[in-house]
Amino acid sequence: MSSQKPAALVIGAGIAGIQAALDIADAGFPVYLVEREPSVGGRMSQLDKTFPTLDCSSCILTPKMVDVGQHPLIELMTYSEVVTVEGEEGSFRVTVRKKPRYVDVDKCTGCGLCAEACRMHGRVIDVFNRGLGKRAAVYVPFPQAVPLVYTVDPDACLYLTRGVCGKTFKCKDACPADAIDFEQKEQFVEVEVAAIIVATGFDLIDPRTKPEFGYGVYPSVLTGLEFERLSSASGPTAGKVLLNGKEPKDVVFIHCVGSRDPHTGVPYCSRICCMYAAKHAHLVRDKLPDARITVFYMDVRAFGKGYEEFYDRVKHERVMYRRGEPSEIYRRGDRLVVRAEDTLLRRTVEVEADLVVLATAVVPRADGAAVADLLGLARSPDGFFQEAHPKFRPVESNRPGVFLAGCCQGPKDIPDTVAQAKAAAASAMGVLQRAMEGERGSLEVQEA
Ligand SMILES: Cc1cc2nc3c(=O)[nH]c(=O)nc-3n(C[C@H](O)[C@H](O)[C@H](O)COP(=O)(O)OP(=O)(O)OC[C@H]3O[C@@H](n4cnc5c(N)ncnc54)[C@H](O)[C@@H]3O)c2cc1C
Ligand code: SF4
Ligand code: SF4
Repeated sequence: MSSQKPAALVIGAGIAGIQAALDIADAGFPVYLVEREPSVGGRMSQLDKTFPTLDCSSCILTPKMVDVGQHPLIELMTYSEVVTVEGEEGSFRVTVRKKPRYVDVDKCTGCGLCAEACRMHGRVIDVFNRGLGKRAAVYVPFPQAVPLVYTVDPDACLYLTRGVCGKTFKCKDACPADAIDFEQKEQFVEVEVAAIIVATGFDLIDPRTKPEFGYGVYPSVLTGLEFERLSSASGPTAGKVLLNGKEPKDVVFIHCVGSRDPHTGVPYCSRICCMYAAKHAHLVRDKLPDARITVFYMDVRAFGKGYEEFYDRVKHERVMYRRGEPSEIYRRGDRLVVRAEDTLLRRTVEVEADLVVLATAVVPRADGAAVADLLGLARSPDGFFQEAHPKFRPVESNRPGVFLAGCCQGPKDIPDTVAQAKAAAASAMGVLQRAMEGERGSLEVQEA
């Protein structure tokens, strides 16, 4: 990437960071896009279909991922993290740590022969598939990854964890491009930027904070994100809703797991779960026409464009919406029983289930405090990064020149995330433009 114009730094390459980077680069300013994972894409790359239009998530995301990978003005720094930020609006100096992949990205063709040969093939928990599948120690998170280069997982590779793999390195022997390189070390790169956009996204609450739902005890209790992988054509069951090879007959969805609950420390509404649970109910109806589907809800918040209509459609797809918060899930024989107080009928009900899906709360990322310290950002009482003013400066942070985009500022769906990313990009471009005019001014003075 070579450009005389001032550059922007975007931290996090989920849909928010991708959109912001593309908008700034398309306007002619260079962008450093730093992503801590081996691929760009964030949570959206894990989704199956998206509400309310039911577009295939990877069909709409992958072209944007490819665009950031190929854009001449975007320098993609995956498997990397920002470690220091100094300076001020118009002239930040940033240090980025590039973690070793143990694979030469210029040689790797993404053929996958190393993963097939790896001694740990089929033995490492596949984090991208939320533990529903297994992979090798050398891997790409998913087939559409950008960049499509392999990474050796330092926590799973036999050589990197125990100092020995076997008589030879299976992956190295299998690689036709001689790309595996266990001599790689971390690198530190310094960049100068005029503006920064923070787009580090969100986490989901650990459902074990609600032990009454038996997550981690009963294998047929899943989270919404696990259901996305189960339902996705690129997931471990190729999109079939199967548990232990069998189709569930009774499926129960539970809203607000952890959200709106002072006991879990998440008093707020997570905003996306009513709608993704409706989407999941629709997907089950589509894939399992005879399944009995029950949704337990507190109240349904279908606030976005086309959302109420989508919820209405799902209700008419033989999906039973029951108002009430389940109090317990227990095993009876080989099935689960969801016990709840139906607050409309005013009585306790029990619903048998083969599959229970928990709509878990959206929470700030576990390293939110560390990122806030690194960048000097304020956080609101809920732990998300604080905007300068909720109505009039919704994408500015408290630090001049640093802007917020997506779920790092609070839970939101994809349309709101993209809208906020575009607003953050526009605000950052104001800073870049001013920095450029300042530079031009000083150049003209020198020339005169
Ligand atoms: C189960 C489920 C289903 C959903 N379904 C839908 C749907 O159908 N329709 C819809 O509109 N929305 C849906 N959503 C919401 C959607 O996932 C979010 O709106 C979207 O992913 C937010 O994007 P983001 O870029 O803000 O965050 P993320 O997707 O979380 O991306 C953040 C990125 O930043 C990276 N990162 C984090 N920290 C750092 C760091 N320090 N340095 C570098 N990189 C970092 C992460 O690795 C990640 O790639 C769903 C969410 C869930 C959980
Ligand atoms: S060194 Fe061994 S365990 Fe590690 S990636 Fe290669 S084959 Fe797999
Ligand atoms: S075998 Fe070599 S070229 Fe093929 S994916 Fe693995 S590291 Fe890359």
